[in-house]
Parts: sequence; C-alpha cells; structure tokens
Amino acid sequence: MCNTLDIVIPCYNEAKNLFPLIEEINKQIKNYFLSYNLILVDDGSKDNTTEIVRKALLEFPNISFTYLKLTRNFGKEIAVKCGIDQSSAECCAIMDGDLQHPPAYLREASIKMKETGASIVYISPQKRLTYAHQKVGAYGYKKLINAFSKDRVYLTDFTLLDKKAVNLIKQFTESDFYTRGILSVIGLKSAEIHYLPQERKHGKTNFSFKKLVNLAIDGVISVSTKPLRIAIYIGLAISVLSMIFGLYLVFEKLFRGQPIPGFATMGFGMFFLGGIQILFLGIIGEYVGKTFIQTKHRPIYTIDMAMTSKNHAIDEEDHNKC
Ligand code: UDP
Ligand code: MG
Repeated sequence: MCNTLDIVIPCYNEAKNLFPLIEEINKQIKNYFLSYNLILVDDGSKDNTTEIVRKALLEFPNISFTYLKLTRNFGKEIAVKCGIDQSSAECCAIMDGDLQHPPAYLREASIKMKETGASIVYISPQKRLTYAHQKVGAYGYKKLINAFSKDRVYLTDFTLLDKKAVNLIKQFTESDFYTRGILSVIGLKSAEIHYLPQERKHGKTNFSFKKLVNLAIDGVISVSTKPLRIAIYIGLAISVLSMIFGLYLVFEKLFRGQPIPGFATMGFGMFFLGGIQILFLGIIGEYVGKTFIQTKHRPIYTIDMAMTSKNHAIDEEDHNKC
C-alpha cells in the first residue's frame, strides 16, 4: 500500500498542460494518499514551463513539488530516470505531462499493488493511441521487442513502482536508459491494470514516425544482443548456400560441360552480400557506439536549476548536480 507517493512527470514544452494536470492530480488523489510529491522534470523545454511552474507553486501551496530543469533536451527516458533518482516516497508513479494518463488510475494501481504484492503495476492502454503511425507501429514493436527480450516488456510508460523497484532502478546508470526495458530486466513481481487513454490536452506528440523508429531500435539494442547473434546465423547461412552454389557450378562445368552464366549471378551476389554486410556493420556499429559512450562514464543528465516547494516554503537553487 502506498501512503506516500512521488509522481514523476517528464515535461517537454508542456506549459499549457501543467495547470490542468496539477488540478486533475490534486482532485483525483489528494484524499487517497497521505501525502504526495510532484516531481516535474523539465526536459529542456523551450516554452515558458519554468514561469508556469513558479506560478503553480504559489497557486497550490498545499502541494509538494520538486521541479528540475535539465540543461537541455535529453529525451523522455532520461528525464524519467532523473525523476526516479529523486524519489524517496513509499511509491513512485510515472506518468506523461499531457493528461493522456488519467491520474485517477493511480488509486486503482495502488489497490492492485496491495492486493497482489507486486512491486510494479503497469497501467496499460485499453486501446492504442490517436495517431495512425503509432497504432500500426505499436503492434509490430510489441512483437519485435518481446522476441528479443528474455523477459516480457510492457509497452506503457504509465506505471506505479514500490520503493524496492525504485531503489533497483536507481542503480542502473546506463546512457541508453530505457525505462520499459529496465523494468522487465529487474525481474520483480508485476501486475497490470488497464486505462482508457485520453486525447492530448494541448499541443501535439513529440514522437514523429522517425523518432519512434529510433526509439524502437534503441529499445531492442538496450534489452538484447541477439541482433549480433542473428548476424552470425545469417552470415553462416549465406556462406553455406554460396558453397553449395559454387559446388553446383563446378559440377555443371566439369561433368555436364555447361557454360556458366556469369554476369547476372555475379551482379546479384555482389549486391545481395554488399547489402547484408553493410546492414550488419551498422548493427555492430550501434553496439560499439553505445559501448564507446558508456566507457566515458559521463553523467547521463545534467540539471540546470531546481525548485522545491514543501509546507508552503519555496526553495530555488542553481544546479551543477548530476
Ligand atoms: N517528453 C519529454 N522529452 C522529450 C519528448 C517528450 O520529456 O524529448 C515528455 C512529454 O512532455 C510528455 C511525455 O514525454 O509528458 C510523452 O510525450 P508525448 O506526449 O509527446 O508522446 P506520446 O504520448 O505521443 O507517445
Ligand atoms: Mg502524449
């Protein structure tokens, strides 16, 4: 059971959504949890998010806030990691800042956590979201990532975690942090409930088709090294097939005296193998690149400034903390 709750909300240009979001959270859960703290992680927004948060701190003096502004846009996954790193309550919820995740479900998730003893409650969408490319991609991506991952990966960012899960996640400091992958890797008991996704209140999605494809590739690479193994199998299969083909050509020439049709076979083979080689160099390159970045041990995010509001007192500080 969660008595105290942290709510991590990554925000990128969500200024217009912040007030309605805070109002809705306050309305839906204030009487349910003993206390809750909003951890707003501003992922390098270019709008007036900071001013809006300042206003909100004054407008809602009874709500406890932690506002962290990252020095630039690090991407949603890293913003979520930054928020989780700050969590100290009994439970920690992760939700989007555009009101697509209805806060009311946090009560249901908390009940489910108590009933099942799960450390992670996934709040999964009942139907897929608004945009056509998301609908088409979601099904394929779910199949793809689960084919590569050893443990089941749930495709939702709306989750409730207990302290055990939070403490484990804090230990993961990889630069390609991918929340859904990490949640599946830590292997704690999980449960699932469903919610009806809402329309985005203001603005539009930050995830274009290109960004989603990149996220899908990063997701697969962060949960598995199987693509490298597949490269070996395909390489082996092509080698065996080409040896059989070579033997067939020798047989044709020596025993049946047939002239060997050269150009088309050569051309096809060249392009086919060229394509496969470049593809697999790319796959290997991805892993080498990730390893290179990781070996630098750079901080995965940097905080520009922080504001906290607790018991009607507002604190503001410049940050160089990572
Ligand atoms: N977000 C972020 N950094 C980014 C992109 C998005 O923190 O670089 C936040 C965004 O403000 C929102 C959440 O991640 O709170 C989900 O983003 P969005 O609504 O654009 O994605 P969708 O719901 O369409 O998948
Ligand atoms: Mg959204």
